[in-house]
Amino acid sequence: MRVGLIGLGIMGYRIGANLAKEGKLDVVYNRSQDKSEKFSKEFGVKKASKLEDIIKESDIVLTMLSDDNAVRAVISEIMPYSKGKIIVDMSTISPRLSISLAKLMEENGGSMLDAPVIGTSIMVEQKKLIIMVGGKEENFNEVRSILESTSSNVIYMGKNGAGLYAKLVNNLLLGAYVVAMGEAFNFGVKSGLDKSQIERVLTKLSSARSPTTELKVPKLVSGDYSTQFATKHMRKDLEIIQGESIYNGSIVPMSSLALQFYRMAESLGLSEEDFCSVYEVFNKLSKKKE
Ligand code: NAP
Repeated sequence: MRVGLIGLGIMGYRIGANLAKEGKLDVVYNRSQDKSEKFSKEFGVKKASKLEDIIKESDIVLTMLSDDNAVRAVISEIMPYSKGKIIVDMSTISPRLSISLAKLMEENGGSMLDAPVIGTSIMVEQKKLIIMVGGKEENFNEVRSILESTSSNVIYMGKNGAGLYAKLVNNLLLGAYVVAMGEAFNFGVKSGLDKSQIERVLTKLSSARSPTTELKVPKLVSGDYSTQFATKHMRKDLEIIQGESIYNGSIVPMSSLALQFYRMAESLGLSEEDFCSVYEVFNKLSKKKE
């Protein structure tokens, strides 16, 4: 089976690296060619200069792209060449879009799985990603060993869209949690606590501590907003949740409120920064001490 990868951003580059190191990657493509050139040089994997070429040269194509528009554009372009191929889309996008693309893919003689991930860039490097897959089980079984090369857990969730719905369950909680974490951190700072004391509470002592506080609170302490997961992507995921809630009838007040905070962070110029920078909304808008 020849394997291709489209999208060498923060996640895709590292996922590709894991596959390449195990000899499970044959060809890569990235919209900005500088990234595919760098990848090709680093790992000795062929780079395609056109989307058409990567689908023609692969049996299985992984995609790791930013959002609905990117996935729609890429899948539409490779669709005519996808007969007998399996597309494994690892991006976080709207489940309804993914389901409709999977249907079109099937009409063209191909197959598509949604395989979004839980975990940031560091977790990819440690091969600790969790991958949740939706689509036909026989296709899942064909791609499983490839996904296992970059993860600690690959889980079959059910029909098309099921992987993405599971991912959104996670990001609903994560999005709201990190806003609350920023609010708590800011409350501590404004109360005169030392940042290292707040870090100790949130990462070691708190009954609400988590892997997320362990990962993100040190970033708040040092003011390091280098991107593991961008604010714009969390905003996008919460927007998808708002849209899906209209269809499934759930009420989503917490994620709805959290979404506004990420929008405010973007207005402060933090769109490309790590999403924990949402703390700056609380920091910047709190009343200054007399
Ligand atoms: P990223 O660094 O922004 O990379 C996005 C990739 O999509 C780049 O390769 C980019 O190409 C490509 N792209 C964007 N628009 C395109 C278009 N119209 N046509 C073709 N390619 C296009 O994003 P990321 O952090 O790797 O995240 C990728 C996906 O994984 C997102 O859906 C995100 O929500 C999800 N995710 C991320 C994390 C994380 O911690 N980072 C964790 C879990 C899930 P260029 O290089 O040319 O811009």
